[in-house]
Amino acid sequence: MRDDITTIGGERVGLDIDGTISAYPEYYSSLSRTVKSNGGRVVVISSRREDSRGVTKAQLDEWSIAYDSLYLFLPYDEVEHLAPAGVTDWYERYLWQKIDYASSENLTSFHDDEPKVISLFQMYRPEIRIIQAGGCGELDEQ
Ligand SMILES: [Mg+2]
Repeated sequence: MRDDITTIGGERVGLDIDGTISAYPEYYSSLSRTVKSNGGRVVVISSRREDSRGVTKAQLDEWSIAYDSLYLFLPYDEVEHLAPAGVTDWYERYLWQKIDYASSENLTSFHDDEPKVISLFQMYRPEIRIIQAGGCGELDEQ
């Protein structure tokens, strides 16, 4: 766990849900509240489908996550055009919604547990700090 949690004010932080917030709800509750109380912005970006919005919002409230917006995945045919032509794998093109939304929100960091998401960010958005779920910041330590 990060020990610099009080020094991250003013950041624009993105959080995945499953395997990230769901795996460390107390940590992400604390992180989200700290970011927001220091004038930062928290957005939740999940590959859960739009029709789970009600259930998902209730869960985020249960976990006491403070956030400004919640992006849930749209069907593939609505987002397939977002990824550059060089991304040929259909799943990576589907996941591109995370990159696209993170970019539109100008995020400074994004927390996720999925290796494919992490490598997409590292390859295409090096300016966004990608953090392995749990916040240790060491991508080779789970
Ligand atoms: Mg996940």
